Amino acid sequence: MRSIRPQSLCTKFWRISSQPQRCQFHKRAFSISVGRRTSTVDMTEEDLAKVEIDRQRLWGELHKTCEWGVGERWGENPTDVGMHRLALSDDDKKARDWFVAAVQNLGCEVKIDAMGSIFAIRPGKKAGPPTYAGSHLDTQPTGGRYDGILGVHAGIEMLRTLNDGNVETEYPVGVINWTNEEGARFPISMVASGVWAGAVSLEKGHNLKEVNGPATQKSELERIKYLGTTEASHEVNPIGAHFELHIEQGPILEASGGKIGAVEGVQAYRWYTVTVKGRDCHTGTTDFRNRSDSMLTAAKLILHSHNKASEMGCLASTGILNLKPGSTNTVPGSVQFSLDMRSKENSKLLELEEVLRAEFPKIAAGDVVDCMNMAGTKGRGCEVEWRLDTDSPATKFHEVCVKCVQESAEAMLGTASTSLVRKMTSGAGHDSVYTSGRAPTSMIFVPCRDGVSHHPAEYCSPEDCGNGAQVLLGAVLRYDRLRAERAN
Ligand SMILES: [Zn+2]
Repeated sequence: MRSIRPQSLCTKFWRISSQPQRCQFHKRAFSISVGRRTSTVDMTEEDLAKVEIDRQRLWGELHKTCEWGVGERWGENPTDVGMHRLALSDDDKKARDWFVAAVQNLGCEVKIDAMGSIFAIRPGKKAGPPTYAGSHLDTQPTGGRYDGILGVHAGIEMLRTLNDGNVETEYPVGVINWTNEEGARFPISMVASGVWAGAVSLEKGHNLKEVNGPATQKSELERIKYLGTTEASHEVNPIGAHFELHIEQGPILEASGGKIGAVEGVQAYRWYTVTVKGRDCHTGTTDFRNRSDSMLTAAKLILHSHNKASEMGCLASTGILNLKPGSTNTVPGSVQFSLDMRSKENSKLLELEEVLRAEFPKIAAGDVVDCMNMAGTKGRGCEVEWRLDTDSPATKFHEVCVKCVQESAEAMLGTASTSLVRKMTSGAGHDSVYTSGRAPTSMIFVPCRDGVSHHPAEYCSPEDCGNGAQVLLGAVLRYDRLRAERAN
């Protein structure tokens, strides 16, 4: 028998009847329960649609916890304040304590691993590795209120909604707060999920020193009492699947009018140091023909990397530039610059590298390549050396997980959904990169204003926060149902 249960917040707005009712105040449908407990395998699309998160509760809880790690104020509204919640700081401890208390109140088992990552587990009908919603509560020194924080809060709102709606999942579901995703205070980003995945050693994770001080991650984990006893290991503490809701941190969704990004993967990137060797000479006595101007050459190479990357649908950026000797009246004989190149496809990235490796020496020699060296005076040429510093191949998320996100988004957004749900590739790394190597994973993006992130004015509207959390819940339930179907 199907019974109807009103939500606690809006009892006075509801009439009990055999049909789901819409609350005019909260614009929410009743939760449903079939018999005593609703099981995901018995849920129709209609049933799934009725399990709705409480958008006001999510928004309220998220901002309430932002009192720990208050950053810069940027606007007049009470929530127009950025965040400064560095990993394993006193404020991070307060947010962690809140997390643990909140999930324990919801009846979850809590595991803390050797890197301090917290795993909250809500039991399912069967035993097995949980399907998690994971993200991070730490922020950049001048961060915002949504990067990472939204993903964790949406996970807790998911657990609350399941409890309220009496929904029983086939397998356990849970929420993870990964330690030090940002890599701001302890400078390796996604370090705890990296240790969990076996990509970073525990020793390296523990001994990692803070940027301006003597503390290590281990000493700070001990100090704030989050050095857990569970091994930080995908083998000992496996994940059934990992879904991460995150603000996009870029402008694409907002610019295209999209509401939800179904993230298919994370782009590949390779970082290089390029050295251009020329010869120091006097700026007044050496004419252009007799110069080996390494700075002028570097400028051409950087511009060429931009042109080629544009042509091939990749990204190329230079963020570090050093030149010697650094004197106004000396043509520099040596320049080093960083080159960060990115693409959705590993093969495209390698192709771009191959082209640039072949063309940089020609440009440095003064030959005409595309529009480079078409004007100006040919000098004596420079030499170019490359050093590969970082290689991070593209991550492809799990097709089934991406499909769960897409279906969940389409169900929430309704018929007009095709243009509102956009398949995307993440430009930034996330904990989901490491989990995806060890468990089916995908991400959900929601728009953030002007694509701004890692900045106090980072902003995601209540509507978009709620949409993301609703899609997260729907994706986890869909995945749980598929897991059960596959097992039968
Ligand atoms: Zn993040």
